[in-house]
Amino acid sequence: MKTYVVGNWKLNFTVGESSIYLHKLMKALPVHRGIEVVVAPSTIALQPLSLQVDRHKIKLAAQNGFYRDYGAFTGETSYSQLRGIVDYAIIGHSERRYVFSEDDKFVQKKVAAAIRNRITPILCIGETESERAFGETADAIRDQLVSGLMQVGDDDLDKVVIAYEPVWAISSVKSAKLATPDEVAEVVRLIRGTLAEIYGEKVAKDMPVLFGGSVNSSNAGGYLTVPGVNGLLAGGASLILGEFIDIIEAAKRVRV
Ligand code: PEP
Repeated sequence: MKTYVVGNWKLNFTVGESSIYLHKLMKALPVHRGIEVVVAPSTIALQPLSLQVDRHKIKLAAQNGFYRDYGAFTGETSYSQLRGIVDYAIIGHSERRYVFSEDDKFVQKKVAAAIRNRITPILCIGETESERAFGETADAIRDQLVSGLMQVGDDDLDKVVIAYEPVWAISSVKSAKLATPDEVAEVVRLIRGTLAEIYGEKVAKDMPVLFGGSVNSSNAGGYLTVPGVNGLLAGGASLILGEFIDIIEAAKRVRV
């Protein structure tokens, strides 16, 4: 299985800045078949960057999209419009769930819409600080996982990537804490166990599970060696080109 390194640029960079970053990243990266490097710029930058990107080296992801293909939905961008422009879509990110009140049902429809439009969803799931404190981590993870995949047909399960992102570990959250490798391992086991119960061992083994939460170049190697983790999703650290390249380098070292 490939190792994924995903950079979520969130609401940062103009189109011009995004293009310069991409140019420099492509220059710095040799093609590496084992590593899937993905960047998620703002929606406005996706189309021009899709003309610039060398997809052998880097793939583009949408940070957001709407589940209906067209219609009276002012201000939205559909996954059908993103088709051919991006290979991936980040869906269910905690900022969408908690800042924009997207619930499990909404996330579920977005996952289905992405797949329908040949875009690989990166389904983000993760417990909040209070869910963890009240011992509800397993329930929160199971609910988000099961609901997120509810409309995915058996034949499409190989087109889904999961990202475990404990909300309390996201760097932009006040008093964010680093997840320990043991904490990550426990939830990743739970994710794969739930997948095995519902879809069988093969799906549970083959579905990529990434980790995200204050990942940087110093801790990347540690998280990448957690059993069952197939890659990383970095937010803040991906905004610094050198940091992002060092995370990719860490991924290469771990694969050797
Ligand atoms: C994210 O945006 O998904 C994320 C994990 O952010 P950060 O790496 O900054 O914690």
